[in-house]
Amino acid sequence: MAENCCVSGGNVMILSCSGGCNVGQLTNRAAVELTQDGVGKMFCLAGIGGQLNGFIQSARDVAQMVVIDGCSVGCAKTTLDKAQVPMKTYLVVTDLGIEKNKDLTLKTEEIRMVKDAVKEALTQ
Ligand code: SF4
Repeated sequence: MAENCCVSGGNVMILSCSGGCNVGQLTNRAAVELTQDGVGKMFCLAGIGGQLNGFIQSARDVAQMVVIDGCSVGCAKTTLDKAQVPMKTYLVVTDLGIEKNKDLTLKTEEIRMVKDAVKEALTQ
């Protein structure tokens, strides 16, 4: 396990953009909590962005995946596109009506909204 810290665990791979703004950090926090709740397993998007073969292959092989971007810039989506990893379930936090800003103090209600949206999307 020297290379890839993210392989084992839940059945659903969770990839968050984890960007440097409220909505980016909401993706990260939701991914952490969904992992802790047993909904899935957060995975290292940076490993895919870094073109590391083990990470890319794991993402290609996984049966269930949810990708969460903070805003319509779509950094996680673009990262997967460039690595030729097929996207499965996809969410954008600003589409939930949460406005992007620079306040990194996350609101519990907004974390819950993102988590609920991910759970809902995974049922479809
Ligand atoms: S998708 Fe938006 S919030 Fe996420 S890293 Fe890109 S610019 Fe930042």
